Amino acid sequence: MTTQTTTVAVTGMGVTAGVPATVVSTLAADDVCDRCGSRAYLLVLFDDGGQLTFCGHHGRAYRDALVESALVVHDETDRLRQEARR
Ligand SMILES: [Zn+2]
Repeated sequence: MTTQTTTVAVTGMGVTAGVPATVVSTLAADDVCDRCGSRAYLLVLFDDGGQLTFCGHHGRAYRDALVESALVVHDETDRLRQEARR
């Protein structure tokens, strides 16, 4: 006897309302911090279409100010902690 379960997962995690999903999770190894050139873990989008990227250090330093003025603050600093553990 087989029980089949169909799960439709609708997750809103990491996605901010009104922003296309394609804009989110776009940080790659070649994205670097606009301040120091380290690998970027924070992507900040503004409603005028501008965007900034920051490393974990500068992301933390500017995060509070950015959250107030930015349309989206996409934070991947969790990955930084995971990678540091290796
Ligand atoms: Zn930096």
